[in-house]
Order: sequence, then structure tokens, then C-alpha cells
Amino acid sequence: MINTISEYFKFYYPKIEGLLFGANDIAPPINQALQNLPSVEPNNLPLSLEPREVVIIGSGPASYTAAIYAARANLHPLVYEGSISENSLPGGQLMTTTRVENFPGFPDGIDGPTLVENMRTQAINSGAAMLQETVVEADLGQYPFVIQGEKTHQKALAVIVATGASANRIKIPGAQELWQKGVSACAVCDGSLPLFRNHHLFVIGGGDSAMEEALYLAKFASKVSIVHRRDRLRASQAMQKAVFANPKIEIIWDSVMSRINGKNTVESVVIENSKTKKETTYEAAGVFFAVGHTPNTAFLHGQLALDANGVIQTKPGSTETSIPYVYAAGDVQDNVYRQAITAASSGCQAALQAARALELSQQNKVAS
Ligand SMILES: Cc1cc2nc3c(=O)[nH]c(=O)nc-3n(C[C@H](O)[C@H](O)[C@H](O)COP(=O)(O)OP(=O)(O)OC[C@H]3O[C@@H](n4cnc5c(N)ncnc54)[C@H](O)[C@@H]3O)c2cc1C
Repeated sequence: MINTISEYFKFYYPKIEGLLFGANDIAPPINQALQNLPSVEPNNLPLSLEPREVVIIGSGPASYTAAIYAARANLHPLVYEGSISENSLPGGQLMTTTRVENFPGFPDGIDGPTLVENMRTQAINSGAAMLQETVVEADLGQYPFVIQGEKTHQKALAVIVATGASANRIKIPGAQELWQKGVSACAVCDGSLPLFRNHHLFVIGGGDSAMEEALYLAKFASKVSIVHRRDRLRASQAMQKAVFANPKIEIIWDSVMSRINGKNTVESVVIENSKTKKETTYEAAGVFFAVGHTPNTAFLHGQLALDANGVIQTKPGSTETSIPYVYAAGDVQDNVYRQAITAASSGCQAALQAARALELSQQNKVAS
């Protein structure tokens, strides 16, 4: 019978590379295990393992905050942080940004990766265990749930999905090289940086978020141009009205951005009219993609209800999903705010809701 995390690791994970351990007191047994125990193929892990109270899927402000709260509630959370691949980076979106200036508690701002590392360390110090593995399947149809990682699997009494969302990018020559050097996907995050102030900025998109980005940027920029490939916008009438009424904003219709130029930061952009094929070069300091976000939910294979925007549907004012004991936190369930602080806030809520639900279920078991 396996009773503790350290026994669990000791027995099942003698040779897994990339395994990160959790609470400090677990580290020595794992290190010993790495040296002393024979190899066990992780794929052969039996499903009869004792379920863990809480498994958290994803990494980022929502996941690490949930891990802090769940660990402090003695729920021994295991975090599947995701592995390093072309499409994902453990730590989440903030790993790709230099400066975060709107997260409370850091009057001079803080580097995105440092903020993430601090949250992660706090979660580990609170007692959470971390696995740098991507979850490939989650069987939410049986209980306890079964979470299948790339190498390991784990049963869980409660699951918190905090896999975030990826801002959609358009493949434009120069965009990759100048990402976060004038090219961004978040006006609220980056728009007020000195780099953009009093300069001509470009927004790509035609929906409500593009209008919101343009209106936000217009507070700081000398001019904002929305580049839209059609001759009409998808945005709501109210948003269009606000945009048309703003003297700093213009719309470049029927056009696509064909190149972003610059050495260290964005210096100019080339816009092509789709009808005439005429190209025009504009001086520019920034380009903001506003072409939607894709929530990272593919591994769920439709088991949780999603809303019209593809984010996990949660009950109003709650992180509860369509399946009891499964919670969703952060950008994977938020199509409106998408900020580090709102992600952290919902991570806290998910852990507290999981703790209460598990406690209640335990009380009911005892009573029956
Ligand atoms: C460039 C940039 C700059 C930003 N700047 C700011 C800012 O200044 N201030 C601010 O408040 N917000 C900012 N944001 C927004 C902020 O980063 C997000 O709102 C926040 O990170 C969302 O947190 P999250 O916990 O929901 O998940 P995310 O940060 O999206 O992270 C989720 C992570 O989970 C992991 N994952 C995904 N799928 C799986 C899986 N199947 N198994 C295991 N792991 C998985 C991946 O590593 C993924 O990256 C910025 C975003 C970007 C892109």
C-alpha cells in the first residue's frame, strides 16, 4: 500500500528524466530512489494507485495559485506542468513576456519568468509536487478520474484544469523575430510601455477584441490603425460606434499586413490592399494581434462543456464545470479578462471549492 508521496515516487519513478519534485521533505527520498531502485517503465504504472486528492493540469498563475491553496489545505496536489515543446512552455504565457507592471505587490514591476518562478517556488514550499509532463488524456467519465500524462498517469478525486489559452498569431514575416519587441497580443499588458507611447500602432483583427485593443491603445498612441481584411467589421455595433468616434483610430479596409520590419524593435510595417495588391509602407512602433485566443482544451476531447468561444464553461461566479469535482481556472475558462491576477484569483477559488467539495463528500461518507 502506498501512503505518501515519497513512497509513491520512490516506487514508481526511479528513472524519469525531467521529474521535478515537490515539497522539500520529499526531495531526499527521490534522490535516493534515483540512485538505488531498479528501472520501472512508467508506461506500465498500474491503475490501482491510491488516488491523489487533487491533480492540477497546467502551469501559470492559475495553476500555481491553486497548488498553493490546495497544498495548504492538506490536499497533496500534484501539478502536471506540461513539457517543453514548440507549442508549450511550463510556466505559461508570462514566460514569454519581459515586464509585468500590473500584478499587485511589485511597485516597480517584475519580469514575467521571475513572477512565475516565485509562484512556483511558493507552491513547492507549500507542499505541492510538480511533474514537467503534458497531460495527453483525462478520463473524466470514471471516478476517481484518471489523468494520463506523457509518461505517467494518476488517479484523482478532484481535478483543476488550468491549461490556459494561446493567443492566436498570424504568420507574417518579421513577427516572430520582433515578438515582444513591438509585436504583442495583449494591449492591456503592454500598451502603456514607453516603447509604444506617442507612436503609430497597428491592430490586426475585426472583432470586439480588436476594437477593445484599439480603444485601449488610443490612450497612449499618437495614432492607431486597425488592419482588417474585409470591408466590414465583425465587432458589435456598440464597439464599432466607439471606434468610429475616436479621432485617433482609423481603419485600413480590405488589407493584410505583409511584413513587419525592424532591427531591435518594430520600425515599419507593409500593408497590402487585397483588392488592388498595392503595398504601402508605414512607420510603426507596434503591432498588436487581436485575432482570438485558443483555449488549451484539446486533451479533454469534449468531455467538459465549452461556451461559444471555446472556453470551458463554468457556473456563474464559480469554477465548477459540467462535471462534479472538476474545476477550471484561468484563461482556459475566461474569454474576457485574461490577466495574471484574474487567473490567480480563479486558481484560488478552484482550490477552495475542491477542498470544500472533498470535505463534504468525506463527511457524507462518514454519516452514511
Ligand atoms: C506576451 C504576453 C504578455 C502578457 N503580459 C501580461 C501582463 O503584463 N499582465 C497580466 O496580468 N497578464 C499578462 N498576460 C496575460 C497572462 O499571461 C495570462 O492571463 C495568464 O498567464 C493566464 O494564466 P493561466 O494560469 O490561465 O495559464 P497560462 O499562463 O496560459 O499557462 C497555462 C500553461 O499550462 C500548460 N499546459 C497547457 N496544456 C497542458 C496540458 N495538456 N498538460 C499540462 N500542461 C499544459 C502550458 O505550459 C501552458 O502554457 C500576458 C500574456 C502574454 C501572451
